[in-house]
Amino acid sequence: EGEESEGNDTCMICFEQWTNTGEHRVVCLGCGHLFGASCIQKWLSERKHCPTCNHAAKRRDIRTVYACNLVAVDTAE
Ligand SMILES: [Zn+2]
Ligand SMILES: [Zn+2]
Repeated sequence: EGEESEGNDTCMICFEQWTNTGEHRVVCLGCGHLFGASCIQKWLSERKHCPTCNHAAKRRDIRTVYACNLVAVDTAE
């Protein structure tokens, strides 16, 4: 129990994977932690901090993340 992978693609509120679109699409807070949109919106309607690191957060700090477009760009020349 509790040994499921705490990978980078799992919402820490509901412990299910987020998606690229829809209610549970991936979003982040100012601290950089990622959540499903529907989960963090509900969470922040009741609390004022990140569920992962307790950094102060408000619903307006929620940022959409376009996960499918996240590509590491090598800027070294
Ligand atoms: Zn969730
Ligand atoms: Zn955080």
